Amino acid sequence: MDYGLTDDQRAIQRLARDFAQDIVAPLADSLDSDGVFRRDLFERAASLGLASVPLSADWGGGGADYLTYLLVIEALAQASMAVAGPISVHTLCQFPIAAYGTDDQRRAILPKMATGEWLAAFALTEPNAGSDTAALETSASKVDGGYLLNGTKVFITNGGDAEITIVMARTSPEGGKGITAFLVPKDTAGFGIGKKERTLGNRGTSTRELIFTDCFVPDSARLGPEGAGQRVALSALAKGRVSVAAGSVGVAQAAIDHACRHLKQRKQFGQRLAEFQGLQFMVADMATQTEAARALVYATGRMIDAGQSAVTEASMAKLFATDMAMKVTTDAVQLFGGYGFSEEYPVARLFRDAKGAQIYEGTNQIQRVLIARDFLGKD
Ligand SMILES: Cc1cc2nc3c(=O)[nH]c(=O)nc-3n(C[C@H](O)[C@H](O)[C@H](O)COP(=O)(O)OP(=O)(O)OC[C@H]3O[C@@H](n4cnc5c(N)ncnc54)[C@H](O)[C@@H]3O)c2cc1C
Repeated sequence: MDYGLTDDQRAIQRLARDFAQDIVAPLADSLDSDGVFRRDLFERAASLGLASVPLSADWGGGGADYLTYLLVIEALAQASMAVAGPISVHTLCQFPIAAYGTDDQRRAILPKMATGEWLAAFALTEPNAGSDTAALETSASKVDGGYLLNGTKVFITNGGDAEITIVMARTSPEGGKGITAFLVPKDTAGFGIGKKERTLGNRGTSTRELIFTDCFVPDSARLGPEGAGQRVALSALAKGRVSVAAGSVGVAQAAIDHACRHLKQRKQFGQRLAEFQGLQFMVADMATQTEAARALVYATGRMIDAGQSAVTEASMAKLFATDMAMKVTTDAVQLFGGYGFSEEYPVARLFRDAKGAQIYEGTNQIQRVLIARDFLGKD
């Protein structure tokens, strides 16, 4: 389907596809089975400008529109979530720094993020505060010249590998209004790296626990005003959710491509599986659902590029595309039969990676809560 992309958008999409298919795709299964974040692949993507696509050129970024960034994430995820996931989180961190950072903070951090010299992480989730982010307990107590951070974050993508982490911490007891964002460099005393999660999918990424013990950060590390943490987080997550949706479109497309190849090759009952109409109809539904999600993702990207808030649409895109990818990858496993259940074939990996996207950056139940609230109000 032609989405009326501009020449510039097509050129960057081609660059991302070439990198994804030539460099990443041949490694996809080993990235998954090794379960180790490959910093070199991140740096290689960054050297092509793929780790800062929508960041302003003033800060070393590509200065491209948001839709272009979504095309890049879709292309990378089609090859491997082990590369798309870290870049998606890294880029997500650029939005609040650009929007809420002081000039000093932007100058010190964003150009290094653009080149890939620095990787970033976003630390919101805690053991007792997952969906209910306003309940977070990590404290930032005011002391002379700065704050002392104490608490634990869990499931942090790029955690431990990132040179800079945006940490959400409590500066006052007033629920969501008492949260403040901080920029914490990796080598800060009292900033400990905890265990790496053994996850079902996204295995080539680091998803770690971060532990803060009397971790002193100066006043200059505060990102935005005290109490603005929820706004800072939302400025990252609202856009980030569309990128999760774009990644899910890429994962679903990869599942369809693998399934079609298999159906054309494998024979049963004296004919190719592709000749069974029941299986043809499954492929038709998978392709239609993927295209519908792609259209919603691109439309949401265009709303963001037009300066519209698109917060509800971002939730819709995330909800629809990630549920779609779960269904499409489940069907792809079915089309492969026993081979789909085997880790020797890529659809098992795609199925596991699709599941994670229904959970991170706000579960799909929470997206439904947000969408319904927009239509029905809070009560
Ligand atoms: C691979 C991966 C990477 C991640 N990366 C990051 C990261 O980089 N940074 C970060 O901060 N976090 C990250 N997370 C954490 C993620 O955002 C949380 O797991 C998610 O928000 C859900 O929180 P929880 O796990 O505590 O589940 P819970 O909040 O305990 O939810 C459990 C279940 O209850 C449902 N539920 C909760 N509240 C409601 C409600 N009001 N109505 C209906 N249903 C509800 C949920 O949808 C879910 O099904 C990551 C998670 C994963 C799996």
